[in-house]
Amino acid sequence: MIKNIVVVGGGTAGWMSACYLKATFGENVSVTVVESKNIPSIGVGEATFSTVRHFFQYLGLQEHEWMPECSATYKLAIRFENWREPGHHFYHPFERTRVVDGFPITDWWLKQRPSDRFDDDCFVIPALCEQLSSPRHLDGNIFEQREDRAGSGSEAVGRSTLTEQQTQFPYAYHFDTVLLAKFLTKYGTERGVAHVLDDVTRVALDERGWISHVDTAEHGELHGDLFIDCTGWRGLLINQALGEPFISYQDSLPNDRAVALRVPVEAATRGMRPCTTATAQDAGWIWTIPLFDRIGTGYVYASDYISPEEAEKTLREFVGPEAEGVEANHIKMRIGRTRNAWVNNCVGIGLSAGFVEPLESTGIFFIQNAIEQLVKHFPDATWNEGVRASYNGHMARMLDGVREFLVLHYYAAARQDNRYWKDTKTRPLPDGLAERIEQWRIKLPDSESIYPWYHGFEPYSYQAMLLGLGGVPLRSSAALGSMDGAAAGKTMRDIRDEARGLVATLPSQYEYFAHMRRPS
Ligand code: FAD
Repeated sequence: MIKNIVVVGGGTAGWMSACYLKATFGENVSVTVVESKNIPSIGVGEATFSTVRHFFQYLGLQEHEWMPECSATYKLAIRFENWREPGHHFYHPFERTRVVDGFPITDWWLKQRPSDRFDDDCFVIPALCEQLSSPRHLDGNIFEQREDRAGSGSEAVGRSTLTEQQTQFPYAYHFDTVLLAKFLTKYGTERGVAHVLDDVTRVALDERGWISHVDTAEHGELHGDLFIDCTGWRGLLINQALGEPFISYQDSLPNDRAVALRVPVEAATRGMRPCTTATAQDAGWIWTIPLFDRIGTGYVYASDYISPEEAEKTLREFVGPEAEGVEANHIKMRIGRTRNAWVNNCVGIGLSAGFVEPLESTGIFFIQNAIEQLVKHFPDATWNEGVRASYNGHMARMLDGVREFLVLHYYAAARQDNRYWKDTKTRPLPDGLAERIEQWRIKLPDSESIYPWYHGFEPYSYQAMLLGLGGVPLRSSAALGSMDGAAAGKTMRDIRDEARGLVATLPSQYEYFAHMRRPS
């Protein structure tokens, strides 16, 4: 059996992996994290997917135990600003579409268009975002949800994993990634993860080309059965030592840089919008992530279209006076994936395995899925090739699927006001996407027509993006023209009423977290 795991790297990927493996195997498997004192972690990666709560629940952590420590807040949606045209915005919420007479409410919306806002007519979450509401009442209960989504608010997911989750939970988290790594370091080491603060100076291979140990500057050799490469884009083990090639996605996703700021703000007066905002810019987009005591913000851009200096200037102007004196973090991004994330006895997790730009906050989701799948595909002493191949196939398909979804964001955005946005319409599309888009022009995306492998996104996400971005003409199903639309019309009115009722009773997000932080 595998008895000894060495995790190289102590960023989000390293500590999430180590804590998850410890929670899974306890005393039966030793887990060591070796992390450099000199090489900082990437320092960004603050917005998540709704499924991340399973990670915390797997570790047995309640929100009140970890959220205040990590300056964390709720995220109910992504708000896309200016992707269609300046001044326009829409939400991609964590909310499935309701179904009326066999058709999604979004399809009915295309037919009836009771207002020009599909998001407010089809989902309740946009109203909560507009009003800066918390998804939980002060007593801790999640906002009331309709019968057909019953269970989605359930706390009792237990130690299940992403692929068993059938429900759509209504929110994810924002958190300070540095504070989370600190929190997980304490969590992990208290439960037996060995922590070595040192630089790995060499990766030693045996005669078969498998990793026998890593050399460190001050702690000698670290031996293990299984090595997890969490060294970020360096890919010290998987790419550099084992020579596994990297497959770039740059041809379809050209944003290759980011500049980020950590901006202290007074949340009590400013309020905290419970969503990530992605604001389109001349050569990319700016993220805004409200944490409890600051915002995380950054401009993701393509260096073929704008210089780092111009990008930083644009970002600072966008943020305004609060950004004065705040140091900028310039980041070169490696977009794509390592061909096989698992080679011999080494598994790359995190940026070493793959990354697409953070438009849908997928980096931490990739990490979570990778660890869960590693446990499901856990090797034994025979190191079965088929197990490795199955893992690699799962991870490759997931990343390729997210790539497709992100390319769609640019292709389907109505905006075409400069060379950057015009080029998004002519760049080659990944295999299969062009055909799928043609299908969506005549019928909204459904489970049969989206990317067929697990990649974290469901048909409702595709529908919301196409309806919001506005660049691909859509039409309602022909059958709706000959059906009685009264029930659908009522559902859309009910959604508006429900949303009004919720924002009238829910506390603001700031109030909720101020309450959670109050000493009991
Ligand atoms: P890193 O953070 O780079 O950590 C690497 C670790 O390896 C460090 O601890 C370092 O010390 C160690 N190391 C390196 N070399 C050695 C050595 N020789 N010896 C010992 N240790 C070594 N994801 C999301 O889910 N949501 C987001 O909103 C989001 N936004 C992002 C925005 C940007 C601009 C970028 C670039 C990424 C974003 N991500 C996001 C992705 C997310 O940041 C990463 O997936 C996540 O932080 C994991 O990084 P990592 O741990 O793989 O690498």
